[in-house]
Amino acid sequence: MSIVQLEFLTQDEVRIALCRKYWEMNSDLRFAYKTTDIARENSIKPRDLIGIVTSLCNATLLGDVCSECGTPYIYSSRENLLRRNRGLPPLWLCENCTQRREEQRAAAQAAKDAERRNLIQSIYGNVPRGPRDPITLSFEDAVFLTSLVRLCGTEDLSHIRPLVSVSIGSFSPTKKFDDSILKQLWDSDLIFVHPDSPLEAFGEENPLCANMV
Ligand SMILES: [Zn+2]
Repeated sequence: MSIVQLEFLTQDEVRIALCRKYWEMNSDLRFAYKTTDIARENSIKPRDLIGIVTSLCNATLLGDVCSECGTPYIYSSRENLLRRNRGLPPLWLCENCTQRREEQRAAAQAAKDAERRNLIQSIYGNVPRGPRDPITLSFEDAVFLTSLVRLCGTEDLSHIRPLVSVSIGSFSPTKKFDDSILKQLWDSDLIFVHPDSPLEAFGEENPLCANMV
């Protein structure tokens, strides 16, 4: 008799007896037979015993089940059983429930991202911005804008990459000066927030807090 529940995956009586002996426990919850004795009686190598047992039967315990669907945990060895049951059986999720939770989490994140993207598009997209006559720019603004586009402009010149994507000192000597230049261009309506900017470029709660750099 054993508190371990066994489900056999073979009909071979000899192998079933072997599995039973492997998992047999005394009333004091100690394993009744030494693995070396079981191996010798069955003319197998001790190191092969666990592989044979686990391939021929599923060993479970009442109470050690998936906390979501109730699927029993299948022990891979005596050591595994003892380790997991030193205290209360640990809370665990089976593979299916883990995958389902991960899919739910990913779907929730995707929905949240889509909602934020829509909000960002509503704020920054479809804002009419006519071309600016270069002659109206101050010399300083023209130099700053040209430098920024040459350094961070994409190949199709549809937008500029974040300044953090280039090494510090590439744009101006200091980060503080970088920020100052961007603010000047921003205040002069020469740069705008691209509505397709990465979500992490915007404030967590308020997309109006776009991070320009
Ligand atoms: Zn489950």
